[in-house]
Amino acid sequence: MSLRKARTLRVGALMPAPAAYIYAEAVTTLSESGQGVAQRRRVRVGGIVQGVGFRPFVYGLARAQELGGFVRNDARGVVIEVEGATEKLDLFAAALVEQAPPLARIAALEESEIEPRGEQDFTIAQSADEGARTALVPADIATCDDCLRELFDPQDRRFGYPFINCTNCGPRFTIIRSVPYDRTNTSMASFEMCEACRREYEDPANRRFHAEPTCCPDCGPRLSLEPGQAVSLLREGKIVAIKGLGGYHLACDAANEQAVARLRERKRREEKPLAVMTSSPELLVELAPEEEALLRSAERPIVLARRRADAPIAASVAPGTEWLGLMLPYTPLHHLLCADFGGALVMTSGNISDEPIAFENEEAKRRLGQIADAFLSHDRPIERRCEDSVVRAAFPIRRSRGYAPMALPLPVSARAPLLATGAELKSTFCVVRGDQAFLSPHLGDLDTELAYSAFRTDLELYLAMLGVEPELLACDLHPDYLASKWARAQELKLVEVQHHHAHAAACLAENGETGPALALVLDGTGYGPDGTIWGGELLRCDLAGFERVSHLDPVPLPGGEAAVREPWRIAAAYLERAERPVPFPGWSRVRESLKVNAPLSSGAGRLFDAAAALLGLREKVSYEGQAAIELEQLAGHVEAEPYPCREEDGHILGADLIACVHDDLAAGRDRAEIAAAFHEGVALACVEACARAAEPRTVVLSGGCFQNLRLLASVRRRLEERGFRVLAHSLLPPNDACISFGQAAIAAYAMAR
Ligand code: ZN
Ligand code: ZN
Ligand code: FE
Repeated sequence: MSLRKARTLRVGALMPAPAAYIYAEAVTTLSESGQGVAQRRRVRVGGIVQGVGFRPFVYGLARAQELGGFVRNDARGVVIEVEGATEKLDLFAAALVEQAPPLARIAALEESEIEPRGEQDFTIAQSADEGARTALVPADIATCDDCLRELFDPQDRRFGYPFINCTNCGPRFTIIRSVPYDRTNTSMASFEMCEACRREYEDPANRRFHAEPTCCPDCGPRLSLEPGQAVSLLREGKIVAIKGLGGYHLACDAANEQAVARLRERKRREEKPLAVMTSSPELLVELAPEEEALLRSAERPIVLARRRADAPIAASVAPGTEWLGLMLPYTPLHHLLCADFGGALVMTSGNISDEPIAFENEEAKRRLGQIADAFLSHDRPIERRCEDSVVRAAFPIRRSRGYAPMALPLPVSARAPLLATGAELKSTFCVVRGDQAFLSPHLGDLDTELAYSAFRTDLELYLAMLGVEPELLACDLHPDYLASKWARAQELKLVEVQHHHAHAAACLAENGETGPALALVLDGTGYGPDGTIWGGELLRCDLAGFERVSHLDPVPLPGGEAAVREPWRIAAAYLERAERPVPFPGWSRVRESLKVNAPLSSGAGRLFDAAAALLGLREKVSYEGQAAIELEQLAGHVEAEPYPCREEDGHILGADLIACVHDDLAAGRDRAEIAAAFHEGVALACVEACARAAEPRTVVLSGGCFQNLRLLASVRRRLEERGFRVLAHSLLPPNDACISFGQAAIAAYAMAR
């Protein structure tokens, strides 16, 4: 049986207002109809009837006709037994073929009369082999306290053994090849358990009963280097590549300025903050109770917390920011290293620049050989890469190790398995089975050949692990995103989703809702259906479609991408729009590029870049969001009246805010106050746009700019003061990592209609 040839669902204008889009799904109908009259019938349906929502559909039909019986999948398709009045059975049989789910293909239908049983209730019966196929794959879990005690107990047979684990902790997601989750389906398969380990494994009273990766020094994996040797090298200021759960880290002494500088140079990472691993977080940061709880949670993410002024770490670990990303040791090897080393270690992804993390031994040697002075590796293979998660108290910034592949519920059930391919930066993909969305770990920026091939490998592994064959795809509308190109090349039905609608849908769906709502999406860059770059958007939307209510007035980006790296160019474009003099010496030259390469952008990120450049924070950035982060920091908690900002014909005139920044700077006003007034001005302008839109009374907030805590707090407060209900992200990152989830929600909803 083959799937139907690709049919792309383009967006079409169905809503009354201009610039309105809706995703719709054509409903397939089949014309055959059932026959025969009986009080109980057995119906066998063949064709594509599994994983297409067929059983819930049958259940609904049977309940509607008040029939008893059951529906069940088996190796050949679906078996149904229904019992009731003859005319109701006839109606049921007709509806079964006429109203079948859109992705179902009924190839064969047999009916027979059987003895009635007097059954009144109708149920969906479980099939024998189904348990395995839909079994959930657990995430990786940090070493538990019981294992830690054994690790440091000289009397224990696993004393100092870096692969100790139990049923409550240890590697999962990163060692599983396929389901069901048995040792034979993991990368522990090649390690035969010794007598002692097997006894524990088979003893229901033992805490290692069916702990699939269990092992000991006699039978388990081995390190390539003694931890003590690695610690000596780290103390000398050397860089060591350390194999972790989902890939290699590059480690060095976080207090050693030269070591950190060398790591940055070799890794080609200029200023983007580096994460730190420590057993004593209280020496480095001020921890709020919720930050402490996250830090100590079994997921063990990197937590962003405020750095202490006297933190004993090198300035170049996190230059220009008062935030520090830190994590506790989460594998037995980490615990051994940290206990021996004492101080804090830089623990950053094993890659060059923003490439995918290295996770295979040979690959790591090849790619990290020029960076690391030594390798601390081992012979337990990693089955799939998975980078560390990054969270701040209110929401995740990167949802990856410890969380993947934990399912997130969708507010609507997909009638067939589907795959959403996400965006391009901070990329993730999302696989949906029923109402369960399995978000991939962080894939990084999908803009290089290496990243793209890693994406395809990750995808294949993920689908195999979940046992899912997608029947519908969703992707970003962007013509050039590699993941979108991949999706378009598949022979499957495809829903192309506008970037900021996906942001809004992600926030709605994460909060268990389908809309309608207003959506304030403040973001960097996304493809608009009008060919301009969108990113400062107020939408009125639900999971079915959206209407662009108002947006930031677009400005030209002089030099396109170059303007994103050099925010002064955007500041210049804004100043011209605001009819203010441009102070940047390079402008007369760059201005020429306005004639040839200056795409229009309504991106909110660009407005923050402009203000930051004007305030002299930086004219160039070395990582995305850097200027905005520094602007937020400058504003701090300084109080200021918001700058005024007009809206004309649905265009929020951001240049008004830049004019104020310029004029106050010229008047010698305090820069922190200017930054604060700018933040409040953006918030007020957005909230006033919501107030003008008036309905619905719920506003969802998404987009990378809402990682800015001051902006988020101000927008939320102002909206609530005006009686709006506010929904924000708490399970998913507000940045583009949430896009695949939003696409998935939209596609699932389109199927359900
Ligand atoms: Zn344990
Ligand atoms: Zn053993
Ligand atoms: Fe985005």
